[in-house]
Amino acid sequence: MSDPGTQAVGSGSRIIDAKVIVTCPGRNFVTLKLTTADGATGVGDATLNGRELAVASYLQDHVCPALIGRDSARIEDTWQYLYKGAYWRRGPVTMTAIAAVDTALWDIKGKLAGLPVYELLGGRARDGVTVYGHANGRDIPEVLDEVASYLDLGYKAVRVQVGVPGLPATYGVSDDKLFYEPAVAGVVPTEATWSTTRYLRFVPGLFKAVREKHGFDFHLLHDVHHRLTPIEAARLGKRVEEFQLYWLEDPTPAESQDAFRLIRQHTTTPIAVGEVFNSIWDCQQLITEQLIDFIRATVVHAGGITHLRRIFNLAELYQVRSGSHGATDLSPVCMAAALHLDLAIPNFGLQEYMRHTAATDEVFPHSYWFADGYLHPGETPGLGVDID
Ligand code: MG
Repeated sequence: MSDPGTQAVGSGSRIIDAKVIVTCPGRNFVTLKLTTADGATGVGDATLNGRELAVASYLQDHVCPALIGRDSARIEDTWQYLYKGAYWRRGPVTMTAIAAVDTALWDIKGKLAGLPVYELLGGRARDGVTVYGHANGRDIPEVLDEVASYLDLGYKAVRVQVGVPGLPATYGVSDDKLFYEPAVAGVVPTEATWSTTRYLRFVPGLFKAVREKHGFDFHLLHDVHHRLTPIEAARLGKRVEEFQLYWLEDPTPAESQDAFRLIRQHTTTPIAVGEVFNSIWDCQQLITEQLIDFIRATVVHAGGITHLRRIFNLAELYQVRSGSHGATDLSPVCMAAALHLDLAIPNFGLQEYMRHTAATDEVFPHSYWFADGYLHPGETPGLGVDID
């Protein structure tokens, strides 16, 4: 822990400015930008989609004043200071704010070292980051066409979602395709009509059609979006085993980690969960009891690179692999940070990738790039991303 008497005395990497920027074409991304005395800058994503202004306030009112004068080199120390110092621990608002600071400090450390962040994390454990795209359609033929276009682009993994007959709208299905927006931010949550019976009857036919048309030579994924009870999820997992899903995502809400035991007892279909988790305590039991196969926590919502690495390290001991959330409800700053971590950890599984629009990419110039089913963070020192 830091000794206040020696805190950043005479250090050129002392933090002198912390700015919270709320902007992005068509939505709010919250970006924290830190500046040090020697002129280095670092960025961190602080976007908590739909509740993003709460994080902006938390940063502005409580965190930024505490950062001024601190040594930017002390990443772990600053993480512990913000986590323990607030007395109130965990929670999405707190952990997203801490994530932004942590991400920005890694960015600064990389820039000052002249190295991309993945080198500071131990270097490459693989050549590229395997990503999955989203194929969705109002009906099965439309999904089959979408899968084809992702496979044509070189994707090695595709998530499929389909409209359910008799339901006015279904999660994950939209008119937009390549730039589909899964979680439109709004002050008021939307309400939807749902039928578990119709869904369970219809969705196995989607996997059957996809495998019949496109074969088994790519990873097939599906998101249940927390809509089933544990026994319903167990029934679905068991029913679709022959279609060899790479993962079945968010089969049931995870507030009760115990609930996953029931699913596990009935099916060998791999389970992924965790995009709403914000700390290691949300998944401790899921990981240590091997109740899941993939942990989907992200840099921006789970306390930054420092804390997410801790989660992935725990997961590695239990043969649970990473599968970070990467929808367009997080900014290119988080995507860049995720790629550096994905590249360096030994138990990487898969990274979600939804393309930001050209307008968003213009606001957040970045060095990461896609080719043949993989994302690459690039060799720019730091995270290789900025905000214009
Ligand atoms: Mg999900």
